[in-house]
Amino acid sequence: MKIKKVIKSNISNVDFKNLNFGSVFSDHMFSCSYKNGEWTNAEIKPYQPIRISPSARVFHYGQACFEGMKAFKDKKNKIWLFRPKDNYKRIVKSSERLAMPCISEKLFIDALKILINLDKDWVKPGLGNSLYIRPFIFADEPSINATEADEYKFMIICAPAKSYYSGDVKVKFENSFSRAAKGGVGYAKAAGNYAAQFYPTKLSREQGFQQIIWTDSNNHEYIEEAGTMNLFFRIGNKLLTAPTSDSILDGITRKSLIEIANKEEIDVEVRPIKVDEIINASKKGELKEIFGSGTAVVVLPIVGFGYKNKIYDLPKTDDSFASYFKKKLNDIQYNISNDCYGWRFEV
Ligand SMILES: *Cc1c(COP(=O)(O)O)cnc(C)c1O
Repeated sequence: MKIKKVIKSNISNVDFKNLNFGSVFSDHMFSCSYKNGEWTNAEIKPYQPIRISPSARVFHYGQACFEGMKAFKDKKNKIWLFRPKDNYKRIVKSSERLAMPCISEKLFIDALKILINLDKDWVKPGLGNSLYIRPFIFADEPSINATEADEYKFMIICAPAKSYYSGDVKVKFENSFSRAAKGGVGYAKAAGNYAAQFYPTKLSREQGFQQIIWTDSNNHEYIEEAGTMNLFFRIGNKLLTAPTSDSILDGITRKSLIEIANKEEIDVEVRPIKVDEIINASKKGELKEIFGSGTAVVVLPIVGFGYKNKIYDLPKTDDSFASYFKKKLNDIQYNISNDCYGWRFEV
């Protein structure tokens, strides 16, 4: 792999105490090209704009997918990823669904390791601090022919992140728009899935909700997931989460929480969940918590939800499952606790 380092790091210009997440990037980026049936030209170079033709298929037909992962630094300055091979498997699934060529696991992992080690000072120690990593693949072949491309780029960029209090999060159960349909691309981290959510999410923000809880596209009867999070519901002392499907993304955080719950003997049911069931549980006072799970938020507690012009508030609990799971996961991610699952991966 060709490596061209920055002459001078940009890190001293970054205010890590007031990070505007997603707009600041580390010194280097990884890039490689798919041409003539193979991935070539793997290189790491200073983070910089790329040259791309206006006719590149990605702009016209949205042939692109991505991943989201984080690197954590422990007290001894060792850096860890969390289940990176699962991210690899998922980007392969996403690529296949979008008729894009697969990258090899070796290339994916090697690129991550070399890039993160080069930018290791950008991974700040301390609970809540991390380096968010964004691998992505897109069709850069110059042609507006509406078929799959023959040329692609696979790139990785990194953005320092810190956990911040995002205020109380209220969600709306959507019952007209849909995120994903049966047979569609909902299970893939396809770029277009997110663009399609912006308009309904904007409308819901105007109504006072930060996020949407998507329901099935047939009858809006079953709960699916939120924009970038899977969902858990606590009724009494039981946790519920919907099974993954072709319209629900198979979140790595979600499946980790299920494994932790099983190990810790917390009752967790993976089955289709009706919106009605959650409304009824809330009316009876049995709905204790709703929380989202995802790499960016880890675990995000939700304080209330709206459905058909009614607002339902969730009770405040001192011993929430949300904070229990967040601590369990963080302890593994930051190498604070023993990792009996084999999820930590040293870079
Ligand atoms: C990325 C994502 C998630 C969360 O997946 P993690 O692997 O836990 O980060 C959930 N839903 C959607 C739609 C996503 O894009």
